[in-house]
Amino acid sequence: MKKEQLYSGKAKTIYSTEDPEVFIAEFRNSLTAFNGEKKAEAEKKGFYNAQISKKIFEMLEANGVKTHYIKMLSDIEMLVKKVEIVKLEVIVRNIAAGSITRKYPVKEGTVFECPIISFDYKSDEFGDPMLNDDIAVALGIATRKELETIRKLALRINELLVPYLDEREIKLPDFKLEFGRQGGEILLADEISCDTCRFWDKKTGESLDKDVFRFDKGDLLKAYEEVARRIVPEIFE
Ligand code: UDP
Repeated sequence: MKKEQLYSGKAKTIYSTEDPEVFIAEFRNSLTAFNGEKKAEAEKKGFYNAQISKKIFEMLEANGVKTHYIKMLSDIEMLVKKVEIVKLEVIVRNIAAGSITRKYPVKEGTVFECPIISFDYKSDEFGDPMLNDDIAVALGIATRKELETIRKLALRINELLVPYLDEREIKLPDFKLEFGRQGGEILLADEISCDTCRFWDKKTGESLDKDVFRFDKGDLLKAYEEVARRIVPEIFE
């Protein structure tokens, strides 16, 4: 099925298939943080993230959100629709954590009355700087209409994810989305996993995500496994 490797990112490798409109995303065990400065490998990380992403994409599709997800080919290989990635990291925040608490006068844990959406330019070379709509349009990163569609989709995804995770005893302080263009439509792409979301245990507030790796907070795989147990319990049967 796999034809040739097209692209290898920090955590996934993309392959072409016989169908020019379909790619395979393979979730790897590699981890990076701080723009690639900190690196590691963690056995089973790819498996947990692939399974968590699959389950969340299925939930979103069932609620009318179009994604690039087609089906799983194996534990770590996801068949996805070919899209042209919009060079934006779309950040959604419900509770203050991470960079917003370093750059602005807001304390970690502050609950925002309304979710905050911001766009970073997806560029390792420039260190993912924050954009506003005028910069994104001037640089040809996205059109104004696309930005509006992406904002609405991000809010809808957040509206679906927060209660879904709450039922599983997980708080969602913030997360990152990527979107792609396909045949005049905008689809949710990339992944939604412990690498791209902050997940806090509802009772203890403990990090169950990549912050465990970023800040050496403990056993990364235990944290990812805990999220997988709550979201995809069937893989442990
Ligand atoms: N995020 C991501 N990839 C990035 C930057 C951020 O997946 O390149 C996610 C991150 O895991 C968090 C959210 O986006 O859930 C907000 O990240 P933030 O801006 O606070 O950056 P950080 O504190 O992680 O540097």
